[in-house]
Amino acid sequence: MMSHLGRPKEGPTDKYSLKHLVGHLSHLLGGITVQFAGDCIGQEAVDKAAAMKPGEVLMLENLRFYKEEEKGDKAFAEKLSKLGEVYVNDAFGTAHRAHASTAVIADYFQADKKMFGLLMEGEVRSAEKVLHEAQKPFTAIIGGAKVSDKILIIENLLNKATDIIIGGGMAYTFYKAMGGEIGNSLCENDRLELAKEIMTKAKEKGVHFHLPVDSIIADKFDAAANTHSAPSDAIPSGWMGLDIGTEAIEHFRNLIMSSRTILWNGPMGVFEMEKFQNGTKSIALAVAEATAIGAFSLVGGGDSVAAVNKFNLADKVSYVSTGGGAMLEYFEGKVLPGIAAVKHT
Ligand code: AMP
Repeated sequence: MMSHLGRPKEGPTDKYSLKHLVGHLSHLLGGITVQFAGDCIGQEAVDKAAAMKPGEVLMLENLRFYKEEEKGDKAFAEKLSKLGEVYVNDAFGTAHRAHASTAVIADYFQADKKMFGLLMEGEVRSAEKVLHEAQKPFTAIIGGAKVSDKILIIENLLNKATDIIIGGGMAYTFYKAMGGEIGNSLCENDRLELAKEIMTKAKEKGVHFHLPVDSIIADKFDAAANTHSAPSDAIPSGWMGLDIGTEAIEHFRNLIMSSRTILWNGPMGVFEMEKFQNGTKSIALAVAEATAIGAFSLVGGGDSVAAVNKFNLADKVSYVSTGGGAMLEYFEGKVLPGIAAVKHT
């Protein structure tokens, strides 16, 4: 087994050593003794790997103690490849990176000696189901702070989805672009034209584009702020939209309940604060309810995953992706090196 932990900058660092995980890994594997090599390449790793018998487990030290890992160094990848007969990639979280152990190494294995692990298989199957086999209506719910982070995924989804719901801070850039008053709400002033273009493209492609008609507004970005509700395009100056409002929830809920396929990335508001969690919670509940009556739902992206976990709904949606950046890039339509390395060669 090989993996990385954290982002060690200066080579071997005790705090990032995988030796600390050996006991827990052994427990997870039902008590099997897990051996450990104090370096992921070199003689100790070679000797310990060569001496292994069926049923034994050897864990290698943190791959990122070598800069070669993130650089995708071929010689380093080849050395790693020599330690095993079969390559199983189960690292979806890093599938969007062409690192030595997650992509480059696959070149040193024959086609029938490299494969996905169960997690990777689940991720790829769920993503493909949404990207290429989505039953309609297909509703994509995109939230979060910034339009700029989500442009590519929105553009790709304009070719796939029936409906796109926009929530969270990014909604206000769209309202501002249409001439709305958004007070102190989040806004990317350099993306106003882009927001208009996205809305025009949606119209051209016949995709229904939904913004939250109302918002919960606050007089400061604070858990104890004063709050009101207001139309999202008429927010008084000095106030900011921090969650979607009750009308928006009702509207989005109806759309979600009539969908056959649902993709959700990004919260509807500042769900970390109790006063502004209702939008995200209501959407999470709607996604869970739609799933119970037969829709396929995929939730991904760090904050939306945190949200379904917070509201104890992770097992009520069809699939919760473990990849933040990887999931986003997958849905942007990019080829992920970690997947391509195993799948297409
Ligand atoms: P992202 O990382 O882009 O998915 O954004 C997630 C973050 O956006 C979360 O921490 C939310 O608190 C924050 N967020 C969501 N809606 C708003 C909003 N209306 N105003 C400010 N921040 C927001």
